[in-house]
Amino acid sequence: MPEGDTIFRTARNLGRALVGKPVTAFRSTFPWLMRFNDDTPLAGQFVDNVEARGKWLLICFSGGGILASHLLMNGRWHIYRRGERWQLARIHMRIVIANDQYEAIGFRVPIARMHTAQSLERDLQIASPESDLLRAEFDAAAALERLMARGDESIADALLDQSALAGVGNVFKSEICFVNGLNPFRTIASLTRAEAVATIASAQKLLKANVLEDSSDMFVTYRGQQRRTTHASDPGESLWVYGRAGEPCRRCGEAIRRRIQGEDARVTFWCPRCQPMLDGSDVDG
Ligand SMILES: [Zn+2]
Repeated sequence: MPEGDTIFRTARNLGRALVGKPVTAFRSTFPWLMRFNDDTPLAGQFVDNVEARGKWLLICFSGGGILASHLLMNGRWHIYRRGERWQLARIHMRIVIANDQYEAIGFRVPIARMHTAQSLERDLQIASPESDLLRAEFDAAAALERLMARGDESIADALLDQSALAGVGNVFKSEICFVNGLNPFRTIASLTRAEAVATIASAQKLLKANVLEDSSDMFVTYRGQQRRTTHASDPGESLWVYGRAGEPCRRCGEAIRRRIQGEDARVTFWCPRCQPMLDGSDVDG
């Protein structure tokens, strides 16, 4: 699943292609989007804004419609110059927004809704700007309370819970736990407030570092050897623990562990020495 920083970059790129320009054509394979477009044609309207909210992407039209899409695992937005050949087959096309320079194509987008500002606020699945780690409006104090309220949940699962903090995906989940020396299987209730504050701060910092103008689509949390571009095919090259099962910890040399965790069976990576359980017990990996 794309992490919040990936959606943020997608929003930035779509914004560059679409914002401030009149839409010349809109098409979709979602019947409800076409019905909306029949009633309120998007062609002729301007795109006012494109923004990320956690893992949702919002495209705001001047007529008041807000197209909210979620990419889940396989959805992608591509931008092409008019007439340029698409890199994915037409059968995967779900949404097209065109202006006289560009076509933005939503491929394999599994979830799309048309909202108004009012209905967007009522859509509880879409994070508020205050809960999005990458937004200026992010409210760390409120996020801390929401996180601490999930006492029974493991730290790793709580970090993935977009209603607590919006933006952390499965890669950053493991990386954030490592950076803070927290065993991902510990419960939220075992965290001191100071640990929880530091965890939120580092989540924000890691995500932000990955949306700098020059950042690629590759996640980077480990910069020790500055080798992030030399082995771009290896997803673990620029990371502390994610994707590095069996390899030596970059801090202590212990073999990195891997385990499926949580109701959604997401993979978790950690160093058993740098991230011990509080009672010294080992997690059965
Ligand atoms: Zn270690």
